[in-house]
Amino acid sequence: MVLENVPRRLSAGVGNSNDQTRRHNLSTILTLLHHNGAQTRAQLTGLTVLNRSTIGALVAELSDRGLAYETEPFDSGRVGRPSPVVHANEDVVAITVNPDVDAITIGVVGLGGALHRLERHELSAVPTVADAVALVGSVVGAFRTELGASVRIVGVGIAVPGLVNSREGVVALAPHLGWHDEPLVEPFADALGLPVRVGNDAALATIAESLFGAGRGVTDLVYLNGSASGIGGGVLSGGVMLRGTQGYAAELGHTLVNSSGIQCHCGKRGCLETEVNLGRLLAVVGRETSGPDEIDALIAGVPDARREIERQLDVLALAIGTFVSIFNPESIVLGGFLGSLFEADPDRLRAAVDALSFTGLSHPVRLERAQLRSRLLTTGAAELVFADLLADPAGTVF
Ligand SMILES: [Zn+2]
Repeated sequence: MVLENVPRRLSAGVGNSNDQTRRHNLSTILTLLHHNGAQTRAQLTGLTVLNRSTIGALVAELSDRGLAYETEPFDSGRVGRPSPVVHANEDVVAITVNPDVDAITIGVVGLGGALHRLERHELSAVPTVADAVALVGSVVGAFRTELGASVRIVGVGIAVPGLVNSREGVVALAPHLGWHDEPLVEPFADALGLPVRVGNDAALATIAESLFGAGRGVTDLVYLNGSASGIGGGVLSGGVMLRGTQGYAAELGHTLVNSSGIQCHCGKRGCLETEVNLGRLLAVVGRETSGPDEIDALIAGVPDARREIERQLDVLALAIGTFVSIFNPESIVLGGFLGSLFEADPDRLRAAVDALSFTGLSHPVRLERAQLRSRLLTTGAAELVFADLLADPAGTVF
């Protein structure tokens, strides 16, 4: 899996034999098309430093395998033969699932990032694994009928708010969902007849933003995700995801910010996620739940929310100041309701972070809102599914 080393750097022609070199180059081309969008053959030649005939052969093989296709060149008006445009095949798709306490969101994402479907199914009770399997099974059955026979499903990626052992496909602990030591791969694979991958939601969101969103091209990044299940994090350091010994690193929501604060479900008191909290924000606007795209309008429409927004921003700045000292990131990206909080008063957060950060840092950290919004977790979960295919397009059967 390449996810621990994103963003991938392009390099052509590394391998011990012609076959290895060809497979490496197929991976390079397909990854480039998937992460950077359609390219002309001439652009692929320039980006990979492979010659034209090699690019032609690689594109032909990807087309034969149904992973890419070409369209007529657009007339650039330049002298010389126009170059065909190569696209990743958006009909090669990943199913994505994001269970949360108040809803299960299910998506279909194509190679190249095309979003074919995204449905949020609100729930009246916190879902069990069996509830999630049943709902996803019926929704994916409907998707299969609607999308037709031309669509090929690579697998299912599940983004879970909790501690996830990705290698085993087991949720060690998702406290808000009440899931403990839950193996997810088998029940979902049995119900759907597809390969299944599982990851932590914030880690997948970090990958999505680093490849397609606000963190594009940034190798030192802290991502903070705020949802109904609390605050998760992901840290990219030197272009590598911080994992920790068990893969549970970057539980940044459990950073101490108020020693006399309220009890957190983790057993500690005054964690970031108890102080900067979607439930407390929604309570001041008289709501219990909200869709991820509604929060901006909700908090903007209620003047009484101002004091709570400012309190949460000030606490968030305290935590970010600590993260800046530990990780020395170029950029901090804020997703979910943390993006809404930031948007409500970006100058307040910036000033507070600057005031709280270690003064020896010569470059102030960049604060940004996540760009992918409601597509964020579905994009990250799809990367989990596409990882093996992108690593070896000629060796992956689906
Ligand atoms: Zn905690």
